[in-house]
Amino acid sequence: MKKVFTHENRLIVYNMKNLLEEQGIQCVIKNEFAGGGVGDLAAFETWPEVWVAEPKQLRLAERIIQDALDADPGKIWTCENCGESNESNFQLCWRCGSPGRSSPIEG
Ligand SMILES: [Zn+2]
Repeated sequence: MKKVFTHENRLIVYNMKNLLEEQGIQCVIKNEFAGGGVGDLAAFETWPEVWVAEPKQLRLAERIIQDALDADPGKIWTCENCGESNESNFQLCWRCGSPGRSSPIEG
């Protein structure tokens, strides 16, 4: 199994899983019940994750995810400083004001 997507927002993770399953890709969610009390330490490790069960489908899954992220006008970026999710029209993190952004997936 391979992890293809993770996000702080569980709804986004579930949405991505549904997208993959619509394309016939078997996937599961890990860390489903983790998180909640995310502090400064290792926030990423508590995010829910989408894992693809079939290695042959990994490349297709990555493409679907990338397309979904590219197509979304409200593309979300993740603050490198505090891990908050921000809409693309925010130039600075709404929570901490940091300009640092990291894309969860780079094509
Ligand atoms: Zn921030």
